[in-house]
Amino acid sequence: PGTSATSGPRPVRAARGTGLTARGWQQEAALRMLHNNLDPEVAEHPDKLVVYGGTGKAARDWRSFDAMARTLTTLKDDETMLVQSGRPVGVMTTHEWAPRVLIANSNLVGDWANWEEFRRLEQLGLTMYGQMTAGSWIYIGTQGILQGTYETFAAVAAKRFGGTLAGTITLTAGLGGMGGAQPLAVTMNDGVAICVDCDPRAISRRIEHRYLDVRADSVEHALQLATEARDQRRPLSIGVLGNAAEVLPELLAAGAPIDIVTDQTSAHDPLAYLPLGVDFDDMARYAAEKPADFTQRARESMARHVEAMVGFQDAGAEVFDYGNSIRGEAQLAGYTRAFDFPGFVPAYIRPLFCEGKGPFRWAALSGDPKDIHATDRAILDLFPENESLARWIRMAGERVHFQGLPARICWLGYGERDKAGERFNDMVASGELSAPVAIGRDHLDCGSVASPYRETEAMLDGSDAIADWPLLNAMVNVASGASWVSLHHGGGVGMGRSIHAGQVTVADGTPLAGEKIRRVLTNDPGMGVIRHVDAGYERADEVAAERGVRVPMREG
Ligand code: NAD
Repeated sequence: PGTSATSGPRPVRAARGTGLTARGWQQEAALRMLHNNLDPEVAEHPDKLVVYGGTGKAARDWRSFDAMARTLTTLKDDETMLVQSGRPVGVMTTHEWAPRVLIANSNLVGDWANWEEFRRLEQLGLTMYGQMTAGSWIYIGTQGILQGTYETFAAVAAKRFGGTLAGTITLTAGLGGMGGAQPLAVTMNDGVAICVDCDPRAISRRIEHRYLDVRADSVEHALQLATEARDQRRPLSIGVLGNAAEVLPELLAAGAPIDIVTDQTSAHDPLAYLPLGVDFDDMARYAAEKPADFTQRARESMARHVEAMVGFQDAGAEVFDYGNSIRGEAQLAGYTRAFDFPGFVPAYIRPLFCEGKGPFRWAALSGDPKDIHATDRAILDLFPENESLARWIRMAGERVHFQGLPARICWLGYGERDKAGERFNDMVASGELSAPVAIGRDHLDCGSVASPYRETEAMLDGSDAIADWPLLNAMVNVASGASWVSLHHGGGVGMGRSIHAGQVTVADGTPLAGEKIRRVLTNDPGMGVIRHVDAGYERADEVAAERGVRVPMREG
């Protein structure tokens, strides 16, 4: 019942323009963003409903997708649709300030929170992997990760290389949905990047989208191109086909002059990491038929991969884990030095989190790039003193290829996001923007995630695994008037290793949206400030004092 004849894989794309197919813009925004996540320009494997990050999905199956789309078109302004791991399970009467959609994805009870049990339940059709922004409908293509990656490499440059990557070579792997941002982030910092991927399509796609400059014919060719460009201090990104677990040890043994090493293969999911000795073309079948065997071999290969990363560190390179859990997997395979290099958050990002900064983003529901260009100008106008932000916005305007609905990302902090959101809402009201804007963020944010191998690695007070924070974050966004709120498990680093929340709030130009935006975009980054105050970070304490964030334990 309720299954349409079209319930099956087919290309989907968000509606454009100002015509509504739903009853209001809050619902229309959720509908367009759900479709946008699966737009073939945006999603890595849209036919399988997979958006990015291994198997991160937007809907459990096509029938659930159809039911969500159908429900969103009829949902009233005082109703809320409940989504359980990519399937709509209920519609309840709430009120106008309540979110129109509440989403819980991939959550499992602690002792059951492992890949094996998850896969068993997934096979039964009872759950799906929501990753971070896949199941919460605010993935905007590779740009989403681009600024964070750009900022991370800028921090590496500041720490070790006098503020620029010019004259350095970065070695990394993984040119997927997120990892594909690495080559452009390195060249935006004027460096040279060698990027290994075992999937020829991933390399072609990044070249097509202008994130990657060239493809090398072999590892030797890649090294030759890289050293030439480095010697001329010329930015260049080079893709090379291969298995990272083979290429990295090879380059290390050859004494390749690598300055920086990281990785963004899908190591968080051992069934998405190609083991040594397996052909890429056989990977999917082998993983499906012999998951336990595959997992074991993938982990052993990751151990070889991480061992080479540690070798590069021993040889003097700057090495960091880029949030894919590869150290944890290598350790499971018995490699004891896996955690010799740090994760990127404690190494470079935590000071930003203390200021409530994180990957703020918005999408133009009109589909018109002019709307994003207008919001770019608004950001430059609002924060004239922030030079690195201005540099990013200008570069993004010139170099970022939009995927799906035009969108923009930039890291903004406490006291900034609300200003931007309110300005966008005013621009919708005045007609300066041709249609409403969906304003959201990644779950990888300052106060929305507990992930001991990534966002909360090495917290000052040892509170890495405390997961009350993302739950409070989701609740506070519901209480503040977000348009949709999501609470997930396992994103980024895999099952059993993270709990995280997201929100999207729609600027539809109404005074009510303005009120909601003011609250959500203050309280949401406010969670980051209080989380870091609580953990004892001095900078967070200063920010709370300067910007008036109330923390009861600091009062009285
Ligand atoms: P993806 O699945 O789209 O891409 C992964 C890529 O790795 C694929 O192109 C695949 O061919 C390649 N690959 C797999 N095994 C390989 C091997 N042995 N050698 C060479 N290439 C191999 O995933 P994604 O969205 O790009 O995410 C990559 C990883 O980064 C995930 O683990 C994700 O959770 C993590 N991540 C990190 C951040 C962050 O901020 N640092 C953010 C999001 C995701």
